[in-house]
Amino acid sequence: MDLRYWLPRAAEVAERWGERFGPYTPHPVNAVDEAQFAAAFERFAKRLEHNYPFFHPRYAGQMVKPPHPAALVGYLAAMRFNPNNHAYEGGPATSDMERECVAALAAMFGLPAHVGHLTSSGTIANLEALYVARQSHPGRGVAYSAQAHYTHARMCHVLGVQGHAVAADAAGRMDVGALEELLRTGRVGTVVATCGTTGPGAVDPVHEVLALARRYGARVHVDAAYGGFFALLGRDGAQAAALGLDPAPWQAIGACDSVTVDPHKHGLQPYGCGAVLFADPAIGRHFAHDSPYTYFTDAELHLGEISLECSRAGASAAALWLTLQLLPLTADGLGRVLATGRRTALRWAELIDDCEELTLNQAPQLDIVTYFPTPRAGAATLSAVDAAADRVLRAGMADGEDPVYLSLLRVDAADLTRRHPRLAADADGARVLRSVLIKPEAEQWLPRLHARVAALAAEAVASDAGSDACADRAAAFENVPDALPSVAEESPR
Ligand SMILES: *Cc1c(COP(=O)(O)O)cnc(C)c1O
Repeated sequence: MDLRYWLPRAAEVAERWGERFGPYTPHPVNAVDEAQFAAAFERFAKRLEHNYPFFHPRYAGQMVKPPHPAALVGYLAAMRFNPNNHAYEGGPATSDMERECVAALAAMFGLPAHVGHLTSSGTIANLEALYVARQSHPGRGVAYSAQAHYTHARMCHVLGVQGHAVAADAAGRMDVGALEELLRTGRVGTVVATCGTTGPGAVDPVHEVLALARRYGARVHVDAAYGGFFALLGRDGAQAAALGLDPAPWQAIGACDSVTVDPHKHGLQPYGCGAVLFADPAIGRHFAHDSPYTYFTDAELHLGEISLECSRAGASAAALWLTLQLLPLTADGLGRVLATGRRTALRWAELIDDCEELTLNQAPQLDIVTYFPTPRAGAATLSAVDAAADRVLRAGMADGEDPVYLSLLRVDAADLTRRHPRLAADADGARVLRSVLIKPEAEQWLPRLHARVAALAAEAVASDAGSDACADRAAAFENVPDALPSVAEESPR
């Protein structure tokens, strides 16, 4: 897609449509001085350079990438109308698009019926699901894995609901034995299962959680903010097998009570696009309210009547809708994009297993790989792992010639040592390296990425050896990125 062609076209849509309402005089108070704006834009563009290259495969850190060009064009075109999907008359076109997108998301999960909407984020989507959980089972708490997103505990606090963290197994999945013990107390009304934890991308056994929850009369909410779009691949047995995914959790989502998914993660959308779906349309009663301003054009339940939020960008729905015209929610559509990350994660895990400099923290369950520099035999401690991971991160970013951008994940001592008994627990945890392979380009870049990270790991571990020379090298790693001497400073004066 050539954005130089499509961005001006997108900007024209509202203008062409607006002409039918006849000319009017713009107020001078809105006049913009071109020269003044040009100067401001210059400063602004410069400011934006203070960023990380999320678009480039050298960036293999957090779960972020630029939106799809279709999303950009859709957002810009719709934003010029500035529709508000709070109520139908706030933006009829984009409200219809939102309903179609939400129906497509529900079909992706196999929900037989649904009510739902887009939200500004996964956090708000989860808040809404937990709000419905509280209204459905007053006085009972919410259980989530100890590895679940931190906002579940926060939102339980906001809602005045007791939150219960359930232990995770060695793979970072909710321990169903521990869950059953908790359910037996009768204190839990809703269990949150996570499909793709934000750290290592672990997938809770939704099918087992669901069976247990039903036995104890509890609801199940699936937090698939990160991993949800993998349902495109995971629900189909053959697709799942080809990519080493267990289909059972993905197939169980359709029988759960609610699900959160973030189109602004794997759905190629700009930030500001989460979604919450409920299996039972009758939950709309928990949102009943009476607004004196709105609701006069649509007999159906308004999107604003089933949402905790009021104003929501219609442009978000427009961007998602236009993207889904190109990449529908099928294994052959958006699924092909997700499959690249999964393949790359599996391949990298193999490379790391065959590589002395790096150790795999745990087998990737989706497209997130966690690993650490292999410590020297005599110094295999958590603090050595932590220090070396930190050095790799910094040295990778500071290298002006061949930079690489990773992220860190903090892991508890118990979790790390049960996976790696050779590590001595001299601290209560350690940070390991983490790469979210969310961009298809990571697939072609993988040999370079692996070689670069392995070399940095070797240097980081060598610099930990304690000699003066190594300590100097370690110190050099600390002085990043600003303190790197420039060529001019090094040349004699
Ligand atoms: C990202 C994420 C969230 C939070 O979503 P935001 O859109 O960042 O608010 C919640 N749960 C999981 C599993 C996530 O990955």
